[in-house]
Amino acid sequence: MAKQCLNCNQSVDSNFCPHCGQNAAIQRFSLKQFILNDLVNSLLNIDKGFFYTIKELMSRPGHSIREYIEGKRVNHFNYLTFVILIITIGHIV
Ligand SMILES: [Zn+2]
Repeated sequence: MAKQCLNCNQSVDSNFCPHCGQNAAIQRFSLKQFILNDLVNSLLNIDKGFFYTIKELMSRPGHSIREYIEGKRVNHFNYLTFVILIITIGHIV
């Protein structure tokens, strides 16, 4: 039985919506789900996570920022979130 995409209301019969690309297995938002799935995955994701963004900013900062500004953002951590995280880590340390 096909599910319905919560983002665009299209019929979805695979793991991702063919219309907008959103994951079809979106669960109800909870703090536990946010910490276990979203935060940990975004921080540790090798391809587009927090540490990937640090590596890109250290190795080729101009290229990384230019890609982000031009709209190629799928591989990059959100830079506003990145700055907030860096400031928070700085205050904790
Ligand atoms: Zn969709």
